Amino acid sequence: TFESPVSFSKLKQGPDGLVPVIVQDYKTSEVLMMAYMNELAFEATLETGKMHYYSRSRKSQWLKGETSGHFQYVKSLYSDCDNDTLLAKVAQVGAACHTGSRSCFFNNLVKKEYDDTNPLMVFEDVYQVILDRKANPKEGSYTNYLFDKGIDKILKKVGEEATEIVIAAKNPNPEEIVYELSDFLYHAMVLMAEKGVTWEDITKELANR
Ligand code: AMP
Ligand code: ZN
Ligand code: ZN
Ligand code: ZN
Repeated sequence: TFESPVSFSKLKQGPDGLVPVIVQDYKTSEVLMMAYMNELAFEATLETGKMHYYSRSRKSQWLKGETSGHFQYVKSLYSDCDNDTLLAKVAQVGAACHTGSRSCFFNNLVKKEYDDTNPLMVFEDVYQVILDRKANPKEGSYTNYLFDKGIDKILKKVGEEATEIVIAAKNPNPEEIVYELSDFLYHAMVLMAEKGVTWEDITKELANR
């Protein structure tokens, strides 16, 4: 449970006593959904650490996940500049949307041409694939070949790829160093998976320096 510094009455409520809540994935900042809270839902949320809302269509309080199991564990709550909107950062179990979509916002209305991939996410994504291979070996997988050969083989590859970076860096064309750095980072992630080290361990260590 949370000790909230703001009581619900400090928020500017709509005529119906409701305050809109924007819900975000606490790690990726993905916007998951938008819903409304009344005072009871707000208090139930603080008391249980799970997001509660007020359903305008059903005219009743609602624990997100009560039927689907897709609970939202509160990591933080913010109110905005003029205290009329809440932002919740949550650990989402499964899908936020009742359609089964992780986020409710999948109806794209307008879009300019842009690349919205977060380059850092690729590290976590590849790492997760490596962990999955470790747990569920796949026929013909090079990653499984490395795990089967064991730590010495993985360390040998890490050493080799590090040396290849050094050689590639002598070439003025950056194409080769991109290739070798990618090789190195992949093998480093296999080593991380073998040793049980996560990207969170590494980013924490770097942030503390
Ligand atoms: P749940 O809270 O996930 O068990 O879902 C229970 C019911 O709440 C669903 O059948 C929907 O009517 C509604 N619901 C769940 N998630 C959403 C959402 N993201 N936006 C609007 N309604 C929702
Ligand atoms: Zn506002
Ligand atoms: Zn939805
Ligand atoms: Zn290489």
